[in-house]
Amino acid sequence: MTPQFSDLGNRLGGPSGIQELMEDLGQAMASDPEMRMLGGGNPAAIPEVQALWRQRLNDLCTDPTRLDRALLNYAPPGGHPEFRERFANFLQRNLGWKCEAKNVVVMPGGQAAFFYLFNLLGGTKSGQRKRILFPIVPEYIGYVNQSIEPHSHLAFRPIIEERADHSFKYRIDFDRLKITPDVAAICLSCPTNPTGNVVSTDDLNRLRDLARTHGIPLLLDQAYGMPFPGAIYVDWAPVWDEDMVVSISLSKLGLPGVRTSVIVAHERIADALANMNAVAALANGNLGQVLLNPLLEGDRLIRLSKDVIRPFYEERCSAATDILHQEMGDAVDYALHAGEGAFFLWLWLKSLPITTAELYQRLKRRKVLVVPGHHFFFGLDEPWQHQNECLRITYSQPKEVVHEAMRILADEVRSACGSAC
Ligand code: PLP
Repeated sequence: MTPQFSDLGNRLGGPSGIQELMEDLGQAMASDPEMRMLGGGNPAAIPEVQALWRQRLNDLCTDPTRLDRALLNYAPPGGHPEFRERFANFLQRNLGWKCEAKNVVVMPGGQAAFFYLFNLLGGTKSGQRKRILFPIVPEYIGYVNQSIEPHSHLAFRPIIEERADHSFKYRIDFDRLKITPDVAAICLSCPTNPTGNVVSTDDLNRLRDLARTHGIPLLLDQAYGMPFPGAIYVDWAPVWDEDMVVSISLSKLGLPGVRTSVIVAHERIADALANMNAVAALANGNLGQVLLNPLLEGDRLIRLSKDVIRPFYEERCSAATDILHQEMGDAVDYALHAGEGAFFLWLWLKSLPITTAELYQRLKRRKVLVVPGHHFFFGLDEPWQHQNECLRITYSQPKEVVHEAMRILADEVRSACGSAC
């Protein structure tokens, strides 16, 4: 018998960009220790951060009552009440947000949270299709395929601001952006995965005004941002009010394995997410909440983010940028997106005669794993050549690995170009 799937089953159970990426990463990690892993979103192994989590696990293991409580019990689907209360206080104290425990809901990772959110807000309502609007693409590959109803994503091309010295920045094209009645929410990651873009405060405020005027929420994905891990290298103040839905994850704080995140939202949205979590997952894992709980009292997480994590990635970003410029030289027509946050370089190869999907395959054969750019362009109403000209490169790996990978990348680009670039 060949098992038969529904249309939805085929869509969710079939291949996708995120599945291909996770598969490549997992297989390369398991089977080829020589693969240079510049493809994934894993956080770097930062000794101070690792030491903290080891210490917390040790503390837990030497406290049998707490350990048993964490392992033996299901928590309520929206998270432990004590954790929600502490997390709300943590946000009030450190970011000045006027949120309460009722606005904080624990989720099994940001990925699952966005799956719930897109289907809570988007999809069919009273016979009308409601869609999620992405004001700028390229955007996070993991959002693709997350809406259960097809064609529920709508996105707009950015303005490309070209700068001197092989550099550029995407900006929201507010002239293009139209909030039609079928738009259920606006969503962006900031800092953006894959580009490292940080949307300016003015542009973010314009988005907030637009969303408010149209009575729809603005979803802001802070996977790399505030309050932790704080991988933002420009001045940027995190904001929240009840018209916004902010996603905060423990993953980039060194804990992707515990699958825990937090959504801060209007109480009605927070309640609905907890209810959806009960249906889909019963409860969250307890470990993330237990590990974080005592740290929410002081300012240790904020200091760790500010004094250790941010400088670590900022330094890696500038080292990787220097290496790339050095390896590419002036013979190739390329530009790097401004590295304002997150863990990635976004490379635009302007005159590459092959697609970056083909370049990705060639690099993989030489044991360099990156992510071809086309996965990050979705929801556009017409094809765009630019999407075949870009690559995402993760710089959280050790410097020697990044350097060697950049050397191979530049070599492959030059040989693909011949005299064409
Ligand atoms: N959002 C962004 C922008 C990401 O880059 C990621 C993971 O890389 C996620 C959400 C999902 O993270 P998690 O489910 O680990 O919280």
